[in-house]
Amino acid sequence: MSDNCIFCKISKGEISSDKVYEDDKVFAFGDINPQSPVHIIIIPKKHISGLNAISEEDEIILGHIQIVASKIAKQFPEMDYGFRIVNNCGSDGGQTVFHIHYHLLGGRVFKWPPG
Ligand code: AMP
Ligand code: ZN
Repeated sequence: MSDNCIFCKISKGEISSDKVYEDDKVFAFGDINPQSPVHIIIIPKKHISGLNAISEEDEIILGHIQIVASKIAKQFPEMDYGFRIVNNCGSDGGQTVFHIHYHLLGGRVFKWPPG
């Protein structure tokens, strides 16, 4: 837990969210400002500021997030034909909340390159 981290507070239930999934390591909830018909934020319960701040000890939890993302996607028919996972890292990457998180986006066709 990091003081004043909104995603730590969400994972602890101190701020309400539209919870989609929870286990001992990971929490997932609907994005408050969805960019697609399905837009879910997946976070580790451990506070890590971003992908540029991970260490070897985070390997299991970050791998677990991949498994969770795939499981969540299977629960939404909107993602039967695919989905996108995004991690914005740092200011150039477009990160605005500095608790590492993965956007799971689905329900529309995405373009490449991203904006
Ligand atoms: P990023 O720009 O990659 O750091 O993404 C942060 C995301 O968190 C944005 O898509 C926001 O809409 C989302 N967000 C911020 N506050 C909340 C909240 N209280 N509940 C749900 N999503 C949030
Ligand atoms: Zn945090």
